[in-house]
Amino acid sequence: ASGCELLRDPRYNKGLGFTERERDIHYLRGLLPPAYFSQDLLEARELDNIRGYEDPLQKYVAMMELSERNERLFYKLLIDHVEELLPIVYTPTVGEACQKYGLIFRRPHGLYISLKEKGRVLDALRNWPEKNVQVIVVTDGERILGLGDLGLQGMGIPVGKLSLYTALGGIRPSLCLPITIDVGTNNKKLLDDPYYIGLKQKRVTGQEYDSLIHEFMVAVKQEYGEKVLVQFEDFANHNAFKLLAKYGRSHLVFNDDIQGTAAVALAGLLASLPLTGGTLADHKFLFLGAGEAGTGIAEIIAMEISRQGGISLEEARTKISLVDSKGLIVKSRLESLQHFKRDWAHEHEPCKDLLTSVKALKPTVLIGTSGQGQTFTKEVIEALASFNKKPIIMALSNPTSQSECTAEQAYTWTKGNCVFASGSPFLPITIDGKTYYTGQSNNAYIFPGIGLGCTMSGAIRVHDDMFLKAAEALAALVTKEHLNLGLVFPPFQNIRKISAHIAAAVAETAYEKGVATRLPKPADLLAYAESCQYSPSFRQYR
Ligand code: NAP
Ligand code: MN
Repeated sequence: ASGCELLRDPRYNKGLGFTERERDIHYLRGLLPPAYFSQDLLEARELDNIRGYEDPLQKYVAMMELSERNERLFYKLLIDHVEELLPIVYTPTVGEACQKYGLIFRRPHGLYISLKEKGRVLDALRNWPEKNVQVIVVTDGERILGLGDLGLQGMGIPVGKLSLYTALGGIRPSLCLPITIDVGTNNKKLLDDPYYIGLKQKRVTGQEYDSLIHEFMVAVKQEYGEKVLVQFEDFANHNAFKLLAKYGRSHLVFNDDIQGTAAVALAGLLASLPLTGGTLADHKFLFLGAGEAGTGIAEIIAMEISRQGGISLEEARTKISLVDSKGLIVKSRLESLQHFKRDWAHEHEPCKDLLTSVKALKPTVLIGTSGQGQTFTKEVIEALASFNKKPIIMALSNPTSQSECTAEQAYTWTKGNCVFASGSPFLPITIDGKTYYTGQSNNAYIFPGIGLGCTMSGAIRVHDDMFLKAAEALAALVTKEHLNLGLVFPPFQNIRKISAHIAAAVAETAYEKGVATRLPKPADLLAYAESCQYSPSFRQYR
């Protein structure tokens, strides 16, 4: 390649990091200023630049620009400063980036498959420059975080998630493919926005929608084979459950909003048990929000209780209740309930809202998965604290603006007597001289390890037990020291190690369930997982 091509290709470009010898043999003389910067110095310089921006969205744009210019430097920076930069490339900032994607769009970071590509989806996949793809994250943009329908501008989510597959899980960037399927948007604001970059039409539904998705799923398998992992992301729940059930039988798929969220929340609950006492089966769970996240978490809790306690899944489910926009889900509502809520319709008086339900059911665990900010009100939390010594409160809705309550509210209203975890990050807070920390129930703990576990074992199907095992592996990494601070998740800075542990547990399950194809099975799966992880250090070019 000519020197210019090397500089222009983000996969190979090292900028001032090209050595003297590389400049000699790769026709770079004169194309660069004479200074040589080590990767560490380049990294420090990028970090200074990023920190110089006050607005998180500017930081986001700077990070994306870096990834378009120097891929290894981008990943090195993200890995080394993951706690600082994760909220930039992922929730909450990625939410704002999606809202303004048309404005900040510079270069495509993934594939756009719209209704215009109908009948030609395979051709579109073939235009992607990488032939070996192992992980796809795909959205149709209909329910981006808690922000609703952002149409094609949801692309920020697959792009962000896949950069985490690499940075946190260690999957090589060339193996990752972000995709947005554009079937229109019902977001009036975007339809009227001159900078909107998607199709300016209402969403298609029914047969037309299903056939584009089906063409896509068939093309994916045709082009990338049996072992490509497809993660469904931020689909509205009326499609999400259907797609998962339909393609779970023929493809290696999972839905992170349903299953990834479930695993990470379960891990937080398992880790909380030493703080509250008792077993998982001793708790009583109430959810605000009965969609993908709510029912997904509810189901994995029931599975875990049933496994631990030797009781049936049906009996385990009776310990869990959910409230949706119409109130408590009860038997008398059965006829009108969406199918994914039906398992949760227990015999009980109707309750019109959360507060009434809390008072009637007296739960020990309250979980927010409603996408509605400020719904864990003072009354709700005080009621919860009135009959629990140490309630568990998880406010999981993202981004921060949609969080059911803030850390400060949870700790203040329970007088410091709760276990609190949230979906979006909260800084430590001090009340009456005591400092409280908030663990982040962040899917990013789980999905990169799921991806690595599937790819390293050559899994061809995802099994429910992979999520249970992933949750147990994550919970096992929470130490006494973390718990003493109130943290029910391990610190993020160890995420690559955490992902390797989860990957090993997932791979083990793949072999046990007979869905792994990589043989022979490595003797030490943890060591093997670590050996598979991508390193972003600059390579020497000869
Ligand atoms: P979803 O499938 O659309 O479900 C939302 C649920 O909330 C529905 O059951 C809805 O009721 C209910 N709801 C909405 N407004 C309500 C209100 N005012 N009172 C009571 N219930 C209300 O969405 P989802 O995928 O589950 O996501 C929900 C939230 O969880 C989002 O903010 C998302 O960002 C967050 N999330 C967090 C994580 C994490 O790791 N922290 C992971 C995934 C998702 P109806 O069914 O009656 O409409
Ligand atoms: Mn999501």
